[in-house]
Amino acid sequence: MERAIYLNDEIKSWHEANINPFNFSMMYGYGVFEGIRSYATSKGRSIFRLKDHINRLFDSAKIVNLKLVFTEDEIIQKIGCLIKEINGDNLYIRPMIYCDSDGFLGLKAKELRVDIAIAAVPWLYEPSTEQRDSGFTIITSSQKRPSLSSAYLNAKANGNYLSSIINLQDLVDTNIDDVVICDPQGFIAEASGANIFIIKNETLYTPFTYYALDGITRNTVLSLCDELNLQYQVSNLKKEDLYLADEIFLAGTAMEVMPVTKVDGRIISNGRQGNLTKEIFHSYKRIVTNQVEKYHLWHSYL
Ligand code: PMP
Repeated sequence: MERAIYLNDEIKSWHEANINPFNFSMMYGYGVFEGIRSYATSKGRSIFRLKDHINRLFDSAKIVNLKLVFTEDEIIQKIGCLIKEINGDNLYIRPMIYCDSDGFLGLKAKELRVDIAIAAVPWLYEPSTEQRDSGFTIITSSQKRPSLSSAYLNAKANGNYLSSIINLQDLVDTNIDDVVICDPQGFIAEASGANIFIIKNETLYTPFTYYALDGITRNTVLSLCDELNLQYQVSNLKKEDLYLADEIFLAGTAMEVMPVTKVDGRIISNGRQGNLTKEIFHSYKRIVTNQVEKYHLWHSYL
């Protein structure tokens, strides 16, 4: 199969996987999900940091109080069964925990049925060297992340994505690639679906994760700083820090390490991918394809 969905203990084709549209996740965004990638390695197809993703999926569910009736190992097993049905090494795997109120349309549902659907599709987006060298053009959004008393931003919850999706829909007819969102005070939080890093005077900076997802790619990038002899600091960053950065990149499972060369109409350095970003990207690629012995435990061969 080219793409498939694991639903209710059965693997289904894309079009057969049907659920009731009036479920709680669709009506109210009350669900959590993950985005995971598999890669071709010399030992075959490997899922990168699978356990960390499933762990975060369960943490997200706990934060938003979704009561699960399955274990992390069961989900890993399901992912294994699902991808055995799918051709290709480079896949995008998306488990989503959702819940159904079985016909109840009010808000205070007593007995939500919590379930999981897992999609696996071929990964088709691979930017060319020239696209990487020209980098992303981004803007800072006029919308802010909600305050910490209004949202659980460390949960990868469906409902948290509404503002990102609206921001991106506003940009579909422009040549702006992504949007960066600030926290309520105006410090940089993250991009629509990735964490952000800047490099200034050969030091790497990234925001705290109070208003951003604690990205697994962010963690991988911070881990490889040691090898690259690169100092890093987690700190508050302002828009000016972006404008005056030597290099900027976004980091996430989907976009890996993506250079940013223009922010709010201002060209960053010489407007091309920076050398350290390139080095970080190449190291990242070596890690995800299991070419660095030190990180082989991050690989799952299912
Ligand atoms: N922030 C947001 C809002 C995201 O959606 C993602 C993608 N999951 C990230 C950051 C990066 O997280 P990760 O590196 O774990 O994919």
